[in-house]
Amino acid sequence: MAPLLPGSRVGIIGGGQLGRMLALEARRLGYFTCVLDPDPRAPAAQVADLHLAGGLADPVAAAALARGVDVVTYEFENVDPNAVAAAETARAVHPSGAVLRIAQHRLREKEAVIGLGIPVTPFAAVRSASDLGAAIERVGLPAVLKTAASGYDGKGQAVVRRWADAEAACAALLSRCDTLIVEGLVDFELELSVVCARAADGTTACYAPGENRHSGGILDLTVAPARVPSVVAARAQDIAAVIATGLGVIGLLAVEMFLTRDGRLLVNELAPRPHNSGHHTLDACPTSQFEQLLRAICGLPLGATDLYAPAAMANLLGDLWSGVGQPDFPRALAVPGVRLHLYGKAEARPGRKMGHLCVVAGTAEEASERVLQARGRLR
Ligand code: AMP
Repeated sequence: MAPLLPGSRVGIIGGGQLGRMLALEARRLGYFTCVLDPDPRAPAAQVADLHLAGGLADPVAAAALARGVDVVTYEFENVDPNAVAAAETARAVHPSGAVLRIAQHRLREKEAVIGLGIPVTPFAAVRSASDLGAAIERVGLPAVLKTAASGYDGKGQAVVRRWADAEAACAALLSRCDTLIVEGLVDFELELSVVCARAADGTTACYAPGENRHSGGILDLTVAPARVPSVVAARAQDIAAVIATGLGVIGLLAVEMFLTRDGRLLVNELAPRPHNSGHHTLDACPTSQFEQLLRAICGLPLGATDLYAPAAMANLLGDLWSGVGQPDFPRALAVPGVRLHLYGKAEARPGRKMGHLCVVAGTAEEASERVLQARGRLR
């Protein structure tokens, strides 16, 4: 593949914060970006060179985007597969529509990962209420019911501890999606994620695993490197690289995993795009995950993924804005070393990702303490 040099045009399907950070990095590197999103004030549309107004399920708009650029990527996982297919008729889309199709569906995702010989959380499929009994028997209680498609940030999920709750949750979720999966609730030691980049020539580069803490199904805090033995970190990176290679990803693949109390790594979820748990790479690594994605899809060599120093990233949800207008940014920014990233979203809603804070420090503990201290000061 002849490299797409700076000056080339990158099309981004989706205008959220991941697209915004990608477009900002693209600008630094001298690439032009065009963002497809219905909203002209979308976070990425504000900073891209061009905004193309169009729906994320509109094949005509996606094909028009593709015709106007040299390569296409997406920052939003629930892009309509037909829109991606339409873009692929005009230009290369990376990661491909085939990869996206797998990541969009929890059942296909699990089957693909198992097919590569990698363990996943225990699960069973539920296609109608009558499947529920056997599925729960297989995975046991407590369990998590999840819609197979269209879920994100804990949406489309329910933790069930009793059989009676399972029936109600199953009925509610089946009204949103025709296939569910039931997973055993894993009593994990911690959650890890690895962002792996893969270039067209098959080279892979993984970032150090991040240690993730979720709250209400939404990522709250990432600390990198994860505080796990080096063999576990190496195994997590290995798993991510095997999956990225097995699926033929060109671009990024984020792999979320559980580390069980007996030391096993179980894959929970894949995302073929930049990931919230990789935001610290903007501040703590020679090559951010966003630059790395550009390098991979433009045929440039992958960049160095080492951490200059341990880092911690804390998400800022819309809840921090409620009742107070603007959070107290001056007080938070008085914490030494804290970096503020805001996504340009006008309306703060509970659970909505508005921005994040990052601290790079001498140790993971120090980074984590300082980023939480800074976030605490926002109230
Ligand atoms: P997901 O959308 O699958 O990434 O789930 C969001 C979060 O819910 C995960 O990061 C975990 O914190 C929790 N979770 C999801 N599935 C399970 C499971 N099978 N066992 C334990 N916790 C889970």
